[in-house]
Amino acid sequence: MTKVKVGVVGYGTIGKRVADAVLLQDDMELVGITVNSYNYKIKAANKKGINIFAMRGMRDKDHLNYGIDSVCGHVEDLIEQSEIIVDCTPKNIGSENKCWYEKRGVKAIFQGGEKEDIGVSFVSQCNYSDACGADFIRVVSCNTTGLCRTLSALDNSFDIHQAHATLIRRAADPWDIYHGPINALVPHLAVPSHHGPDVRTVMPHLEVFTTSVSVPTTLMHVHSVVVDLGVNVTVDQVANLFKDTTRVRMVYNSDGIRSTAEILEYAKDLGRDRGDMPEVCVWKETIGVWKNKLMYVQAIHQESDVIPENIDAIRAACNICDQTESILKTNKSLGIS
Ligand code: NAD
Repeated sequence: MTKVKVGVVGYGTIGKRVADAVLLQDDMELVGITVNSYNYKIKAANKKGINIFAMRGMRDKDHLNYGIDSVCGHVEDLIEQSEIIVDCTPKNIGSENKCWYEKRGVKAIFQGGEKEDIGVSFVSQCNYSDACGADFIRVVSCNTTGLCRTLSALDNSFDIHQAHATLIRRAADPWDIYHGPINALVPHLAVPSHHGPDVRTVMPHLEVFTTSVSVPTTLMHVHSVVVDLGVNVTVDQVANLFKDTTRVRMVYNSDGIRSTAEILEYAKDLGRDRGDMPEVCVWKETIGVWKNKLMYVQAIHQESDVIPENIDAIRAACNICDQTESILKTNKSLGIS
């Protein structure tokens, strides 16, 4: 089987997970990753045997100070050797990098921090076919991905009239000592928060409105969702639908899973790499129905839920296979359902 050659630019929270996921695919080859500044993450990549390419402006021998014997060249070399780049740089850097990819005729996948006009907004189970053959794709943010997964399942089965979600957002990623709040709840002082409009970049027909509050935790985002449906449903119908929806996992009070802390402990107990939980987790006991309104609460592991989408986006961009096959392959390789 020919393997598509993938480069990863930006090796942080998302980039290191994308690189590891690419290594698990039988139809992809990881050409390498970029280093922007040497640190423990790059040392770990080197230990795994991943090729490292230096960003512009880095001194030629910097790697030697970190016990790394050699680098494979500069970012330009990585782009030349790759058929597709997954750009996992911080917000707005991807749009600056886009001209490198355009100039060299290389396809690219960007992340949710970029503006919607950078490429086709993408969630695998919603609009894979929109991205087939696309040169530039934007895997939407972790929150938008999570909302799209459950809302698209509901819309396909029960016809959503409108939806409202309150997002309770983690303040920072677990490694991040720079961001907060550490002792406050911070409402987003504009409505809607950007997440609702972002969902519509994937599902344009959906009436969805979001508000958001940042809270002092690093352990996942939580969404409280209220949906007006076109038909009457029961709690069990909704629970069964979510059980059957790919990349959505039901979690249960009866199993002792009452919090995001316990979800992530469960992920570690399952032996998940880095303790990741790429599936959106819906608590069964939070599903409630009142007249035509459905309520539920879901948790999003911000560091990992977009990783399967990045892998599927590579297959869509390169026209490797269809949606069903890609989702199955990605799920199997990452051990998710
Ligand atoms: P990060 O800060 O953890 O990692 C970014 C990496 O890019 C770092 O290794 C940094 O050294 C490198 N970098 C910085 N400037 C660079 C440049 N000019 N060229 C090349 N590399 C550079 O960031 P992240 O959390 O992985 O976020 C990356 C993207 O993914 C953003 O668009 C973000 O919005 C999105 N995203 C983040 C999360 C999350 O929770 N962390 C979830 C979903 C999507």
